[in-house]
Amino acid sequence: MNIEISRRAFLKGAGAGVGATALGALGFSEAEATVVSAIKPFRLASTTQTRQTCTYCSVACGIILYSKGSMKDGTAKVIHVEGDVDHPTNHGTLCPKGAALLDTIHSKNRLTKPKVRRPGSDHFEEITWDEALDKIARYMKDDRDANFVQKNEKGQTVNRWLTTGFLAASAATNETAFATYKVVRSCGMLVFDNQARV
Ligand code: SF4
Repeated sequence: MNIEISRRAFLKGAGAGVGATALGALGFSEAEATVVSAIKPFRLASTTQTRQTCTYCSVACGIILYSKGSMKDGTAKVIHVEGDVDHPTNHGTLCPKGAALLDTIHSKNRLTKPKVRRPGSDHFEEITWDEALDKIARYMKDDRDANFVQKNEKGQTVNRWLTTGFLAASAATNETAFATYKVVRSCGMLVFDNQARV
């Protein structure tokens, strides 16, 4: 069935709708503030807060992880993740990926230990962090010793290491990024990138 609405009736209805929405918004923000102020003290009393950076993309939004239990006895568990209102990048907001971080943290598919596929093998096997870091250091040293270029064909000092590259994370803190940059560049490595291209 077709319903005919005059222009005046439409504008009247739209005006009423906007007014109701505005009042609703005011009411909601008051209710929201009341709920937040009532819940926050309890949440802070029973959990540990850890400030972190969302690892998903180069926007690098600030997040707060709420956890229960202790790292010492291995019972620590993240129970809630929210945007950090004090963070200059996102002011507490998160996109849908960031808002779903709790599922990522507890996903069964998430890698939490290093793995290696040895030469000739058809599968990855778990190794310790110590073994992984020792291997990486060994491969880097051997490759740098074999391929470091001290001078170019004109005899000019260039100190380049072009056969190994480094992929860093743009979601790291400034301090981590600074340390990473110094290590990579002081080795002479030129192939260096991350998803933010900075
Ligand atoms: S919350 Fe979204 S926009 Fe922010 S860093 Fe994570 S993925 Fe990127």
